[in-house]
Amino acid sequence: MENNKYLIELKNISVSFDGEKILENLNLSIKDGEFVTFLGPSGCGKTTTLRIIAGFLQPDEGEVLFENKDMRGVPSHKRQVNTIFQRYALFPHLTVAENIAFGLKIKKMKKPDIKKKVQEMLALVNLKGFENRMIDSLSGGQQQRVAIARALAVDPKVLLLDEPLGALDLKLRKDMQVELKKIQQSLGITFIYVTHDQEEALSMSDTIVVMDAGKIQQIGSPTDIYNEPVNAFVADFIGESNIVDGVMHADNVVEFSGHVFDCLDKGFGKDEAVDVVVRPEDVDVVPKEKGMLTGTVTAVTFKGVHYEIIVDIGGFLWMIQSTDIQHVGDEIGLEIEPDAIHIMKKSKYSGTFGDFSSYSEEFDELSDVNAGVSREDDGDE
Ligand code: ATP
Repeated sequence: MENNKYLIELKNISVSFDGEKILENLNLSIKDGEFVTFLGPSGCGKTTTLRIIAGFLQPDEGEVLFENKDMRGVPSHKRQVNTIFQRYALFPHLTVAENIAFGLKIKKMKKPDIKKKVQEMLALVNLKGFENRMIDSLSGGQQQRVAIARALAVDPKVLLLDEPLGALDLKLRKDMQVELKKIQQSLGITFIYVTHDQEEALSMSDTIVVMDAGKIQQIGSPTDIYNEPVNAFVADFIGESNIVDGVMHADNVVEFSGHVFDCLDKGFGKDEAVDVVVRPEDVDVVPKEKGMLTGTVTAVTFKGVHYEIIVDIGGFLWMIQSTDIQHVGDEIGLEIEPDAIHIMKKSKYSGTFGDFSSYSEEFDELSDVNAGVSREDDGDE
């Protein structure tokens, strides 16, 4: 087999459960030291993909390669991977130090070496002095740190993290995102991270793998995924967006919402029907008579940094973000620069999103509700 620079490769992976295709023809290559995030809605197959990499599940079809070696039949503990789950799966009857030492004892490491490693790990996750505490005396955030320390103690080459921050409240989750990223960078190991939180994915990852319905929709850096979504699903899932029908009249010329715009996109057929995405922060408000588009303000919400303004343009509701206040009922003009317009090919997702997309907001609300459950636990963080 030819040599290449990838640490892990998934080739044509398919999995069915009870006759239903859960993963379909999945192809993915991961580099050593990369922070890769699987992002997608509930049930899209993120955890299943992680379990295949971990060796907990054998695919029906396809190959899993680690450093070019076929992993078929290689059990999880021989793959140099370790997993952190959302429920940390710590041993409640053991102390913090005993939890961290667990894998090292199995490896038959010498006692003084174990002690040293435990101290090193405690320092890494900011839990110095906690070694003799029992697990149930710790907050949710502290338990998560112990889980991270335990998983890293055995020096895995790859750490798999399945919604590891899902049980923490928003503030703590943000702090832990920064810490996890720092830990990953300082150790230089590969993290494969599962989340349905787009903001978490954007802020932590080198590479995001956007999934829906058992298929990879797009693989790219956070900026690529945000600025150049391949289809309406990705545009909608990553951030707020206005997705409207358009017609590409020629290279760099697109018509939508009754106006012909200059844009930077090319390579489409003459008068090809396309999906056009414009991010709310990329629309400028101008006096009505100067607007490329005009509309009526139907709602204004103060968001701290900006106002979120909903504008009815010919019956389609646009979301725009502006630091200048507008008032409900105002007639305003909108200006959209060529580089604010992104053109996508029509796909099976075309036309499914209606007015401005608020997918991410729904998810934030959902995850805040979930996080609320553990809020009391985390009071001392
Ligand atoms: P979530 O964010 O909700 O965890 P996910 O993207 O991680 O979702 P998976 O856990 O990979 O999704 O599940 C994908 C689909 O496969 C779901 O419809 C799930 O019900 C189904 N599934 C997963 N494991 C099994 C199993 N062992 N038997 C039958 N169906 C399964």
